[in-house]
Amino acid sequence: MRQKLFEPEYMLDLRGISALRGIRPQPDGGVEIGALTSLRAIERSDFLRLHYPVLTGAAATVASPVLRNMGTIGGNICLDTRCLWYNQSLTWRKGCGFCIKKDGDLCHVAPGGTKCWAAFSADTPPALLCLNAEIEIANACGTRRLPLRDFYTGLGDDYRQLQPNELVTRIFLPGSMAGYRGVYRKLRVRGSIDYPLAGVAVVMKRSNGHLADARIGITAVNPAPLLVKGASELLSGKAVDQALAEAAGDLAAKICKPLTTSALTPEYRREMIRVFTKRAVLAAAQMSDRN
Ligand SMILES: Cc1cc2nc3c(=O)[nH]c(=O)nc-3n(C[C@H](O)[C@H](O)[C@H](O)COP(=O)(O)OP(=O)(O)OC[C@H]3O[C@@H](n4cnc5c(N)ncnc54)[C@H](O)[C@@H]3O)c2cc1C
Ligand code: SF4
Repeated sequence: MRQKLFEPEYMLDLRGISALRGIRPQPDGGVEIGALTSLRAIERSDFLRLHYPVLTGAAATVASPVLRNMGTIGGNICLDTRCLWYNQSLTWRKGCGFCIKKDGDLCHVAPGGTKCWAAFSADTPPALLCLNAEIEIANACGTRRLPLRDFYTGLGDDYRQLQPNELVTRIFLPGSMAGYRGVYRKLRVRGSIDYPLAGVAVVMKRSNGHLADARIGITAVNPAPLLVKGASELLSGKAVDQALAEAAGDLAAKICKPLTTSALTPEYRREMIRVFTKRAVLAAAQMSDRN
């Protein structure tokens, strides 16, 4: 708001709605998380650490402890996309002739294009995508529930399927994903407090000593967080070694489309998706071996 990216007539503080706060295990082994639950509560939840470790791991990397005390999981899911040409003051943006995402009709990052490529840069959504999360959205007429993967449009400007009169109220993680071990790895400039410039979540499940399923989610390198297609087919039924982890890294790097929206170069961010995916696959395999 200080940068005049948003000039709302009214501000609505949601913190008083206690029904939208809390982590509630469900009889089927799944869990319901209120959208106003703080990232700190998620990071510190024993239940989530035991059953959905990739989520507590990702939540623990958001910003800094102070911001995690205030920031909510709902806000993290809904976080605006980011771009070096957008997260600037009004004077700065005016000097550049604005851009598609706010007040203009051109893109400085992809000149000649009509699409905004601002990067979706929240940490928990790739973990939630790996866990097959669903969200509940409420408006004055009722509620609807949709898979989180359908919430994001892939457009940097109009990045989420949410009307101005709607709120995200709850997040659901299915019991079927509770046996998955997982880790989150993140590239950032300042280790103590920074948005991801590339982020990877990996989850795996073992059954009878074999790798039965694996999922990989990425963030900060596209206008939406994405699941890496083909990850399960590549990894399932195999013994995870360096070569296989590298192949998973190649697969993840292929779907990244980072542009010059952030501090580090697109080439470096794509390369770090490759490297972090490899490391995360090896770490998740070790974790699932132990369980
Ligand atoms: C210095 C700094 C560093 C940061 N670093 C990171 C980082 O490393 N990783 C990261 O992921 N984020 C980071 N953030 C962003 C932010 O702190 C977190 O994403 C936090 O989770 C946002 O939660 P919030 O409740 O404060 O949401 P807000 O910032 O209040 O809201 C974010 C957006 O979502 C909307 N919104 C919020 N709740 C709902 C709801 N229930 N339903 C519908 N819409 C909603 C708001 O209207 C707004 O558009 C950083 C922020 C700062 C200032
Ligand atoms: S990607 Fe282009 S349109 Fe989108 S915020 Fe950046 S400069 Fe603006």
